[in-house]
Amino acid sequence: MATTILGVINNIPIIGWVVVLGSLLAAVLSGVIFWQDMTRRSNLIFFMLGIAVLLWGLCYAFFEGSTGGPFALAGVIALYGAAAIVPIFLFLFFYTFSVIRKELHFLTFAELFIPYFAIVGILIFFPSFIVERQEIYDGTFSSIVVGKGFYSYALYVLIFLIAGIVLLIKKYRASAGIFRVAIRRMLITVSLGYFGAVVTSLFSPLFVGGSDLFWGGHIAAIIMIFVAALIVIKYNYWDIKVVATEFFIAIIVLIMILEIFYANTTGDLLVKTAITILVVLSCAFLGGSVKREIESRDKILHLSQDIDMMTKRLKVLDKKKSEFLAIASHHLRDPLTTVKGYSSMLIDGSFGELPERMKESLGKIFDSSERLLTMISDFMDISRIESGNMSYVFSVVNLKNIILEIAEEMRQVAMRSHLALEVIIDEGILSNVAFLTEGDEGKLRQVISNLIDNAIKYTPKGEVSILLSKSPDSKKILFSISDTGIGMNDATKEKIFKKFSRAEGVSKVYTEGSGLGLYVASEVIKKHGGRIWVESKGEGHGSTFYVELNAKV
Ligand code: ADP
Repeated sequence: MATTILGVINNIPIIGWVVVLGSLLAAVLSGVIFWQDMTRRSNLIFFMLGIAVLLWGLCYAFFEGSTGGPFALAGVIALYGAAAIVPIFLFLFFYTFSVIRKELHFLTFAELFIPYFAIVGILIFFPSFIVERQEIYDGTFSSIVVGKGFYSYALYVLIFLIAGIVLLIKKYRASAGIFRVAIRRMLITVSLGYFGAVVTSLFSPLFVGGSDLFWGGHIAAIIMIFVAALIVIKYNYWDIKVVATEFFIAIIVLIMILEIFYANTTGDLLVKTAITILVVLSCAFLGGSVKREIESRDKILHLSQDIDMMTKRLKVLDKKKSEFLAIASHHLRDPLTTVKGYSSMLIDGSFGELPERMKESLGKIFDSSERLLTMISDFMDISRIESGNMSYVFSVVNLKNIILEIAEEMRQVAMRSHLALEVIIDEGILSNVAFLTEGDEGKLRQVISNLIDNAIKYTPKGEVSILLSKSPDSKKILFSISDTGIGMNDATKEKIFKKFSRAEGVSKVYTEGSGLGLYVASEVIKKHGGRIWVESKGEGHGSTFYVELNAKV
């Protein structure tokens, strides 16, 4: 029989210490969970629940140690008083779990504690109403004799526990996905835990008569806290390794703090305190940096997932855009061809001779419809290139003939812009070099026309010269077109073969460009196994475009 507090502590049986240690670990774990995200109300409540379980465990140890002695009554009051807090926090935890930032009004919070204070009041002032006495048989076996009010106490506990379960079931029904899984796990854990705790702690004094099974309720509650912590970690996508590390750090720090109390001399006390402070500081520093690193890693992971999703969406949109372009271009081309055809017939006098001024206006209509048609055909080419539907018909093509024909057609345009157009065919001394290549004639014509057209468009004054030559080994044919026009800087050279790319400020020289011609040209030349590039000495110094193709041998 223990007559002093120290005696009580000495009297605590092994199972009492096991409960104290287990509930201490549960409290530390709940603290670590709270540390992960202090802004979450449910984490704070979980921490409080951990503390309540610890208090209950300590009171149980005190109760066990005080059996039969002068502190026996205090032990009973402490045990039942502490046990009554646990159901409230369990209920509150379920209330806030899975709710992001639910405000818990102070009033609701306080209201929940009213019955608790009533219970504590009764326990203190009329203890025998709930628990009449604690009896000892043979100095070891202790028995709880319950009072009349014990049933109300049991009812109070059960109401909170059942309300918690009902709340969880409601949430389970209303939730989906990860929330549903988390709440289902929580429900299973809690149901098992409740069963164990209620049978061993609440009903055993009624039916068995003894307090020998009380420890079972504690172990059930401790296991419940650990499993609930795992569910919370999974639910929040926290890194379990980080939480585990912090948990072990917290235990180490706790042990070191306890060590301080066992210091024998002042020197020992100082050294232990200093070491503890150092460890706490370095752990806080280490823990913080690990957490930050993991947070940024998670952020990067989420960002890369977002980018993946965006890329997929953009690909779908891009495909839809190409389809739209193909359809729209097709419907625009037919009426435009009619406009172009009739304006040409009117200019030619097919419907009778027209006055000069009218011819001039019709010429503008003709030019504009032609430009629009080129643009539309570029758009159609783009959608064909992107959908992989651009078809090529390869045959032997005489580049010399093509260039001479196109140059002849464009001469008029160049003259209108007051530009000289010169064509040089480097046929060698004997004039017997053939400029044959394997290619799609229509597409090669399109590329060459486009390059000559560009040279004229972007040359306000001067000349445009075309040169066709062969490499010394006769394996390559080189077509180049030089102008004395606006030229370009390095940045422009880099980008003009890309889709929709135009030089900065070029619209001042020529407004209507779409930035597609060179992209189509480079795709076509690529398909021919050739090369296309540009050289320029800078803005205002003209440009030279080169096309190199394989010669047919
Ligand atoms: P567009 O002429 O319709 O804008 P292109 O793809 O044919 O489209 O040309 C892309 C850009 O390359 C032009 O907008 C222009 O900035 C530049 N460019 C093309 N040819 C020349 C040239 N001969 N001299 C200077 N800049 C040129």
